[in-house]
Amino acid sequence: MITCRDVTERLLDLELGELPEDEARAVRAHQAACPRCAAFAHGYAAVPALVREALESAITPELQARLDAAVREALRDAG
Ligand SMILES: [Zn+2]
Repeated sequence: MITCRDVTERLLDLELGELPEDEARAVRAHQAACPRCAAFAHGYAAVPALVREALESAITPELQARLDAAVREALRDAG
C-alpha cells in the first residue's frame, strides 16, 4: 500500500513515463481511491511539458517562473 506522499513523489516520473510499470499501477490504483491525489494529478498534468522544455533548453527566468507557478497551482488544487 503506498501513501499520498509516495504518490506525490512519483507523479513526475509517472507523467514522464519513467516509472516502472508495477509502481505506475500502484500510483494509479491509489489515485482511483484517493480524491485528493486524483485532484493533485489533474493539476500536475501541465508540469511534464514544462519540465521537458526545461530539460531541452537552458532554464530561463521566465520558464522557471512558469514551472514554479504550475507546481504551486497543482499543490493548491490538491488542497
Ligand atoms: Zn492519496
